[in-house]
Amino acid sequence: MQSAEDLRKILRRIDGRGYKAYQDTESIYDFREYTLFVDHVQGDPFASPSRVRVQVPQKVAGFPKDICHSRSREIALRDFLTRRFVDASRRFCRGNRGTGNSGIISIDRPGQEILERTSVLVTELYVEARFVMGLPAFGRTVAGKHAEAMFFDELPQIVRSSLLYMNLDAKALYKHIEVAEDADSLREQLDKLGLVAFVADGAVLTRASGVDPRPLSRSLAVLFEAPESLRVQVVVPNRGSITGMGIPKGVTLIVGGGYHGKSTLLKALELGAYNHIPGDGREFTVTNLHTLKIRAEDGRRIEKVDISPFIANLPFGQDTGAFSTDDASGSTSQAANIIESLELGAQVLLIDEDTSATNFMIRDHRMQELVSKDKEPITPFIDKVRQLQRELGVSTILVIGGSGDYFDVADCVVCMVEYKPYDVTEQSRAIAEKYRAERRPEGGEHFGTISKRVPLAHSFDPSRGRREVKISAKGLQSIAFGTQTIDLGAVEQLVDASQTRAIGDAIYYATRYMNGGKTLRQIVDAVLQDIMAKGVDVLSPRPVGDYAAFRGLELGAAVNRLRTLEVRKKGQII
Ligand code: ADP
Ligand code: MG
Repeated sequence: MQSAEDLRKILRRIDGRGYKAYQDTESIYDFREYTLFVDHVQGDPFASPSRVRVQVPQKVAGFPKDICHSRSREIALRDFLTRRFVDASRRFCRGNRGTGNSGIISIDRPGQEILERTSVLVTELYVEARFVMGLPAFGRTVAGKHAEAMFFDELPQIVRSSLLYMNLDAKALYKHIEVAEDADSLREQLDKLGLVAFVADGAVLTRASGVDPRPLSRSLAVLFEAPESLRVQVVVPNRGSITGMGIPKGVTLIVGGGYHGKSTLLKALELGAYNHIPGDGREFTVTNLHTLKIRAEDGRRIEKVDISPFIANLPFGQDTGAFSTDDASGSTSQAANIIESLELGAQVLLIDEDTSATNFMIRDHRMQELVSKDKEPITPFIDKVRQLQRELGVSTILVIGGSGDYFDVADCVVCMVEYKPYDVTEQSRAIAEKYRAERRPEGGEHFGTISKRVPLAHSFDPSRGRREVKISAKGLQSIAFGTQTIDLGAVEQLVDASQTRAIGDAIYYATRYMNGGKTLRQIVDAVLQDIMAKGVDVLSPRPVGDYAAFRGLELGAAVNRLRTLEVRKKGQII
């Protein structure tokens, strides 16, 4: 290890030289309060900024032990410290100066969710922050004095104000970890309470705007208030008892007039798979961890998925027991999305009529009269939703404003009126009695089988040009995997580009498990197990600061959307 003064000397020596001279700083330095790792220096001022870490020993950082005695707390603490680093960088880093990225000090930036991230690690021995620095230049000439200011003036202030316990707002810190711990506890209790979701009284579900994920101000938002008949009370470790609406297992409809808050509630349930920061409004809105939003996604590729529970007898005898297409329709894509999610272990499906294929959702009596079943390949979801529950134990929450036929298959009906929920289950039953639907159930007594598929390793080629592995996230919704682009636009529960980045690398990591006939589900589980044991870091041989954790459902969804994917079918699960 070199001393901090050694770094100063290097910076003074290379001042005014060509940018490549910065390579000399790639080393480890003792800054007394912390150790500085310059892991990778950028090639020029416009390239991705240089990767840097600091490790503050616990005897300096001084975090009390109780602060991360559970996994929930540890993740929330790391999230909190990342946020404080963002703030401190804004305060103490002079920012952009010179050419390209010159002058920036930047760490991964969390949003409304508390995710496990690799930006900050906390161990018994140290706190580590991983971030990037744009080593400054004018033109392509090393701006040594500015670099010296960044390393010796700005960075120490950032580290001191964001990574030392004594300089943090302890109240805010404890609130952060306690809220996360309570939300995890709430989520874990759902199953034994017979619930798939919980929305706390007083929650703010709506957002500031379509592009601003922060909550709508409390003065404008209608706060959530559970209907008496669905109100449950749950006890969590820090806050004590919380009341709210429990959505039971089974088939739940969210009905109501247009613009009365149906989709907003469903969206909150989608994101209830994650914990939220204090003040978000959805801190105690949680759903079963294995909840997946399902939608139509025309144009997607499908690889040998058995969609026969929903679609059979296609024109010209096309096989739907192992259905493949490069350009799925609305209904076939929605069917494949459901079957794939069941294959991956989804326990709750969320469906919004706004993003569904109508002919997949419903086929009414008159249409049944006109187009006989032998001319209609699709068995609508309405005829499968109860079988899903009964035979596979999979619950569904549906936003339906347009079809009362669904009253026949619902266990619970919630009506949104001016953003407030009402329990109209009894009423909808009475209506279903009074006006009997004349439609006939289609598609048989049973749901059908869910086939396992075995991905074939050779269909995952991450190479591009001379690079053997070239994988990168392009924002939230797209991964460049070798020469392929994986479109995740319809995978709606991804919330952070750092998740997308991790998923891209996880697909490549997963290929090590693609031999010996492992199914997609087994492969995804193997990757998650490694992450559980060793952290998200396991996905890369070098320290990465901008990974965020993801669920197996999203990793599987990404694999299923790789256009080169090839699988072979294996046995049957049920
Ligand atoms: P629906 O799906 O029933 O047509 P949306 O959920 O899309 O309705 O909501 C319609 C509008 O109302 C949106 O602009 C949304 O932001 C707003 N909104 C939803 N819930 C609330 C609430 N609790 N308080 C205030 N505004 C809300
Ligand atoms: Mg809607």
